[in-house]
Amino acid sequence: MKLHEYQARQILADAGVPVPGGIAADNAAQAKAAYEKLAADGATLAVVKAQVHAGGRGKAGGVKLVRSADEAFAAADGMMGKPLVTHQTGPEGVQVNKVLVAAGVDIAKEYYLSITLDRATSRPVMIASSEGGVEIEKVAEENPDAIIRQHIHPIAGLQGHQARTVAFKLGFTGKQIGQAVKIMMKLADLFTKLDADMVEINPLIVTPPDADNPDGKVLAIDAKVTFDDNALFRHKDLEAMNDTSETPAAEIKAHEFGLSYIKLDGNIGCLVNGAGLAMSTMDIIKLHGGEPANFLDVGGSASEEAVTEAFRIILSDSNVKGVLVNIFGGIMQCDKIARAIVAAASNVGFEVPLVVRLEGTNVEPAREIIDAAKADIPVMQVADDLTDAAKKITDAVTAAA
Ligand code: GDP
Ligand code: MG
Repeated sequence: MKLHEYQARQILADAGVPVPGGIAADNAAQAKAAYEKLAADGATLAVVKAQVHAGGRGKAGGVKLVRSADEAFAAADGMMGKPLVTHQTGPEGVQVNKVLVAAGVDIAKEYYLSITLDRATSRPVMIASSEGGVEIEKVAEENPDAIIRQHIHPIAGLQGHQARTVAFKLGFTGKQIGQAVKIMMKLADLFTKLDADMVEINPLIVTPPDADNPDGKVLAIDAKVTFDDNALFRHKDLEAMNDTSETPAAEIKAHEFGLSYIKLDGNIGCLVNGAGLAMSTMDIIKLHGGEPANFLDVGGSASEEAVTEAFRIILSDSNVKGVLVNIFGGIMQCDKIARAIVAAASNVGFEVPLVVRLEGTNVEPAREIIDAAKADIPVMQVADDLTDAAKKITDAVTAAA
């Protein structure tokens, strides 16, 4: 699950990371009022920032510096309701429904700081660079030496000396070091406490020196937090912050029924139990010249109702020209799937070829149900094994085209 920047900034600020104040706005008038409020608190500069679940907004026109309430209105008006296309969104972009109006700051230097999971070492890793503000992937490619990695012990957590080493390597000096270390420690703490996949500050900045801060101030002016969905059950407050307006309707529906569904570009819908079997089903479809229309894992304990819903989701995709059901019943009982096929046939209706391969727990009663339903579902064929199933569905889809 992803958060918007305004939500991530709040989480960071609540944890004690210095973040300039900001106000989220749903329309240009609210953005104008937000500027007036920040100005009343002393701001002479603000940033209007599109709130979408994608980075790279700066280069795409989704981050605008403004110096008056009218400029804030105009900047928000220019973004709101329109798609923002960044290098992370795909060519169709994502519609902007909210902007953040944040107090602007002067920047002496931009840095990169994040914590994510390193799957190779099974540990969190802090990644930092003095080349901040730009895409970190680009830095990693063009100047790998500019990237600092510090692994974090999963139980002991980030140690003060480790954070200080990173701060030195980043080139922080004087009072900047203590400020940066504090931010790193808090970030590491948040990463663990929130069951995050990633916490990222890009850029972390240092402001120019002034009378009160001869070494400048270290601040987070962008924030990204993503969570491990499998741990969300113990973070109901975070789950409540989820903005699903960017998620396809079918994926939201699937989630409600406990199904793992991801839409793809092909035309063969797949209904499978188990993620590994779903992957191999997609592979074997491709091996036989077909293209899967989705990844769909109904899991082991899905109810008949959920499986019927799975068929509804697959069949609601107009690209789907055939459906392959591949079940290897372990915990899942094949007869449950067979009954869901019958239910889907009468509630939703199969108008495209359907190939069913069932094996495992309760396969005998399942076959009886399927045999009895054959006359009512003329598009249905039964397959003996996975290869047979893949051949039958790709042939049927090709023949129908
Ligand atoms: P992103 O492009 O989606 O990552 O959005 P960011 O929030 O990182 O903003 C992009 C860039 O805008 C930053 O790297 C800064 O250079 C600039 N920017 C953002 N906020 C401010 C600000 O308060 N003051 C100044 N001077 N520049 C800012
Ligand atoms: Mg950024």
